[in-house]
Amino acid sequence: MIIDNTMLSAYKRCPMLYWYRHHHNLVPLEKSLPLHYGEVLHACIAHLYQHNWNIWGVIEIAAEMFDESIADKDRNAETLTNVINSYHKQYEGWEKHEKLISVEQTYDVQMSDNLWYRAKIDRITAIDNILIIYDIKHSTRTPNDWQLSQWLLEPQFMGYIWTAQNHIDFKNYKDILFIIDHITVTKKKVELNRYGQKYEAWKIDEWHWSVVDYSDGMMALYPEYYRLPMSCDCTRYFRECDYFPLCSSPPESRENLMHHLYKKEVWIEQKNE
Ligand code: SF4
Repeated sequence: MIIDNTMLSAYKRCPMLYWYRHHHNLVPLEKSLPLHYGEVLHACIAHLYQHNWNIWGVIEIAAEMFDESIADKDRNAETLTNVINSYHKQYEGWEKHEKLISVEQTYDVQMSDNLWYRAKIDRITAIDNILIIYDIKHSTRTPNDWQLSQWLLEPQFMGYIWTAQNHIDFKNYKDILFIIDHITVTKKKVELNRYGQKYEAWKIDEWHWSVVDYSDGMMALYPEYYRLPMSCDCTRYFRECDYFPLCSSPPESRENLMHHLYKKEVWIEQKNE
């Protein structure tokens, strides 16, 4: 089994959600704007790093990839171009001090006999003997102190650090720095910030064992073991959920709904270098 962060967070939120999303690969028919905007943004920034900071090539990619028909006031072709121009202006030069190791690369690392962890890391660079892992976050509001606390690494980040320690020839490096490359767009105004985060080794160990534990649950998962919610929002987790129409429908109509409300997402296996 290959596990990644999206699977882990889906399972932690709700095993049923994990089952719809990752066993059946079902995603709502309507394209999600934040997801689409994020994909285009990631592709553009990756292109900058891979093509000598050629801004014109990136603007063309953004125009080609972005679907303007689902845009809103904060996430549209104009803000996308603003973000790319600002990013280019602010960080061109910064990257010259760093050795680029990988951009948007998927790493697979074996965790146990039948379990592999898959992490797609936005960017890895190095300065002297420090390895730097970047994660690009974008939002339409500025992050709060809690989200950026030096001491509260999200499980996702621990997974990335663990991956880097196991995949890259880590003995050449003295330390790892985790950087959140934060992009905020509010009312067409772009703000770019970089926040460093620390980690402690014992937290990585704890993360490793929790992933093995969760994956045991995933492998043993059968949907009939879960009692389904039958009222308005999800009564199981008290949150809005894309799969609520399925969970709240009688079992005999579920298959039909799966067919009409969702599409199968096709995963393209990426090979490691
Ligand atoms: S509606 Fe509730 S029970 Fe169903 S998948 Fe969503 S969170 Fe899980």
